[in-house]
Amino acid sequence: MTNTPQDLAGWQARAAALRVDAGLFIDGQSVAALDGAKIEAINPANGQLITDMACGSAADIDRAVASAKAAWDDGRWRFLTPRTRMDIFRRWADLLEANAADLALMETLSMGKPITDALTIDLPESLVTIRYFGEAIDKVAGTVTNSPHNAVHQVSREPLGVVGAISPWNYPLLMAAWKVAPALAAGNCVVLKPSEKAALSCIRLAQLFVEAGGPAGVFNLVTGYGQDAGKALALHPDVAKISFTGSTGVGKQLMIYAGQSNLKRVSLETGGKSPQIFMPDLEDLDTAVDRAIMGIFDNAGQVCNAGSRLLVHADIHDAFVDRFVARAGQLYSPGDPLDPSTSLGPVVSHGHQQTVMGFMDQGRAEGATLALGGAADAARPDGAYVQPTLFTGVTSDMAIGREEIFGPVAALFRFETEAQAIALANDSIYGLAASVWTSNVKCAHRMVKALEAGVVWVNCFGDGDMTQPFGGYKQSGNTRDKSLECLAGYMQSKSAWFSLD
Ligand code: NAD
Repeated sequence: MTNTPQDLAGWQARAAALRVDAGLFIDGQSVAALDGAKIEAINPANGQLITDMACGSAADIDRAVASAKAAWDDGRWRFLTPRTRMDIFRRWADLLEANAADLALMETLSMGKPITDALTIDLPESLVTIRYFGEAIDKVAGTVTNSPHNAVHQVSREPLGVVGAISPWNYPLLMAAWKVAPALAAGNCVVLKPSEKAALSCIRLAQLFVEAGGPAGVFNLVTGYGQDAGKALALHPDVAKISFTGSTGVGKQLMIYAGQSNLKRVSLETGGKSPQIFMPDLEDLDTAVDRAIMGIFDNAGQVCNAGSRLLVHADIHDAFVDRFVARAGQLYSPGDPLDPSTSLGPVVSHGHQQTVMGFMDQGRAEGATLALGGAADAARPDGAYVQPTLFTGVTSDMAIGREEIFGPVAALFRFETEAQAIALANDSIYGLAASVWTSNVKCAHRMVKALEAGVVWVNCFGDGDMTQPFGGYKQSGNTRDKSLECLAGYMQSKSAWFSLD
């Protein structure tokens, strides 16, 4: 990455010089909302205005879907040769890479993510996403079945039409890329509605697609509020599929909208309350505790698969808690997210800070023991900071043990037997991810089979790559992102029977 500042002063200077075109992106053009409405993009680290973004309404969604539909109908994207589309994807990824420092800066300013995380996690993973699905374009193939001698039966894979993508704010660019890249790679046209809380990098994603040679109208973007622009997209009769990442509550609503409109497909990546199980025979307690800390405090706990429930065997409970408390502050202490040495920024907004602290109050009231943190960061009153927090003595009936907090708050449960650990882990409406720490290979296999989760990590947490299907069981969703399994979700099969008689 060239021209990347190396220190806080360098990033502050770059932030001051950043110019953002924050319009809607429709038909290859940056445009204002029809009614001229705006959303203030606020920096949660200091409460200051970054810029005004266009605030799209249902009328703007109509414009964007009409643009995508026209592009779909005339085939300006799906009828290009696979190699031509692959070349556009390649140039698109290269442009994103050339703009990586500014895109990372947009993430940090919009939602408080440490700049080092944005540069070393969000940007590289977004690039891999686009390159992976770009490479997959000419690998899609249908089949010819073993049909009778007087017939030929072929099954081909076709795109769906206009895909509406609705994305969250915790990894703004990456979560949008997880939707848009496979949708476009499959040959669809797209309207993206990013989160109103952090959309700047997503706007750039759409602009760069066209700069890379993507035809206008194929990838449109409308910033706006969920209950207005998002709802209009999900109800739109010309949208063939909604691909969503966000909360379970909104996911349920989207299924209703599909039923109320055109039975569009709805793929959901939703919330989580992921358990990490620490057995007494785990190989290295220090490593396990460090990974537990990272699993809950990375991105200030605003991770769908955050390891927010720590299930610790009684034999190692006290050593685990002591080590956790000693190490957490060394690994994660609040700082200016523009400082490359910062590992814990603010949460996304002052409103969300209040929500997270409300959960802490409930934890205390319901009888959990506060072992670490438990407050805002008094040293940074202008920012939406929350101290890294650990509650012990948590049970499944407590709100902090049951509900997704989406902040840097770990809930630690104590268990005595393997069966208890499995029961505790599965006692949740969610089933996104889980991990098991043990040196007993049989126990590891038993756990992998027993855990109700779409992703299970053994002796690690959060590892993986683009080949790994990612998504949840139960109310954590009904689909998989990443991987070729995800690509298949943006296509439908067409069966054609040729009579040879
Ligand atoms: P959210 O559900 O509040 O918002 C997500 C998106 O939906 C936003 O763009 C929002 O504007 C839109 N939206 C809100 N109401 C809507 C409505 N009525 N109709 C249509 N769209 C609407 O979620 P969030 O706060 O942005 O993100 C945090 C949530 O996302 C957490 O629950 C987290 O677990 C989840 N998440 C899941 C994954 C995953 O892969 N499973 C990944 C990241 C985040």
